Amino acid sequence: MSEKIKNVVVLGATGSIGDSTLDIISRHPDRFNVLALSGHSNISKLVKLCHQFSPSYVISTNDNCYGELNKALTSSPTQVLSGNDELLKLCQLDEVDMVVAGIVGNAGMQPVLAAVEAGKDVLLANKEALVMAGDIVMKAAKQNNANIIPLDSEHNAIFQCLPESYQVGNTPQDIDKIILTASGGPFWNRNKNTFSEITPAMACAHPNWDMGRKISVDSATLMNKGLEVIEAHWLFNLNVDEIDVHVHPQSIVHSLVCYKDGSILAQLGEPDMRIPIAYGLGMRSRLTSGAKLIDLLVNNELQFLSPDYDKFPCLALAKNAIATGGTSMAILNSANEASVAAFLDNQIPFTAIAEINQQIMQQSKNEAVESVDHLIELDKEIRLQTHKIINNYGVKSA
Ligand code: NDP
Ligand code: MG
Repeated sequence: MSEKIKNVVVLGATGSIGDSTLDIISRHPDRFNVLALSGHSNISKLVKLCHQFSPSYVISTNDNCYGELNKALTSSPTQVLSGNDELLKLCQLDEVDMVVAGIVGNAGMQPVLAAVEAGKDVLLANKEALVMAGDIVMKAAKQNNANIIPLDSEHNAIFQCLPESYQVGNTPQDIDKIILTASGGPFWNRNKNTFSEITPAMACAHPNWDMGRKISVDSATLMNKGLEVIEAHWLFNLNVDEIDVHVHPQSIVHSLVCYKDGSILAQLGEPDMRIPIAYGLGMRSRLTSGAKLIDLLVNNELQFLSPDYDKFPCLALAKNAIATGGTSMAILNSANEASVAAFLDNQIPFTAIAEINQQIMQQSKNEAVESVDHLIELDKEIRLQTHKIINNYGVKSA
């Protein structure tokens, strides 16, 4: 029996996750229909994607770009939408089967929640949604029978190593712990005394993965692994002491599940996001993804090392935030987004990212999370506080 073609909304279609997702979809026209695409400011790419995939809807969340997008698509059958409210409605349309959450940063939080509240299958790359609002999102998923499938390679690897019956949000049975692997980023072997010389271009040149600029900087500070520990805490309902991090510079083993009988299951593959995305789009069935099969006779060195918390303090900040609970994870996320943006804009040195994040964590009051509106207000407040500290660093020349 042939399966129903799934209608997919690709959020963040103009980004790196968008590229990998659309590459797989284009390999399986008999299984997927691109119902809608979202982008923010890269309108020329969004227009090109509309010509390629003919979605029913396209949306730019940057209100200033509506005119340009609309003009470019006047003679196209694609309906042009604009703004955050329209985006949330789009994620909840009856005809939507799957939402691929590929927006970067906390701008992705509300669309993820909207999709979950409408009971959609949510393929989650946007880890910041869970870091900000993990409790709210996971409860809403349970209440509305929404499937969340992790696309982040580590979490997807864990998901692949758990039984098919496992549903995200539940604590996995019979496990001792999970191990998230980390590449260590571009500066793993660099002397810490030279970290202040690191430029945005150096931080964005990841040794193994080709990703957007924000996550590349997060990988360089190891904040990405910290955010991923928080993500794993919510997805798999585990305590922080049940989530280990091993630095694995080869990025071949994507993560591991340690079972209580002493077995360890791991998922291996090329560092190519099409592998986890294909597993998500296939809802655990195996689709061809275009990724190469890794040759273990060539890639025959697999190392596992302890993280260096002194050189990369952001990882400990994230673990502490889980232990503290409440709003502390959201506070860390907002401070980090603002400090990374300032680093990418050459306003602060690389070393200031961790320092500023730490200072914000020390000076902020932890509260219980009340609602999404509470988190949105808190985000604004923390960004203001972070910018005050950033301004005191002065403008650093590139
Ligand atoms: P990119 O920077 O490549 O793409 C980001 C996407 O988000 C673009 O489509 C961009 O639109 C859109 N966007 C930017 N700002 C906003 C905003 N304010 N409102 C709505 N949309 C916005 O990032 P990645 O694809 O690398 O990452 C996306 C998410 O996936 C992140 O949360 C990241 O942590 C996660 N992830 C990514 C991985 C990867 O390999 N890339 C791996 C694991 C997780 P535009 O370009 O048009 O302005
Ligand atoms: Mg990852």
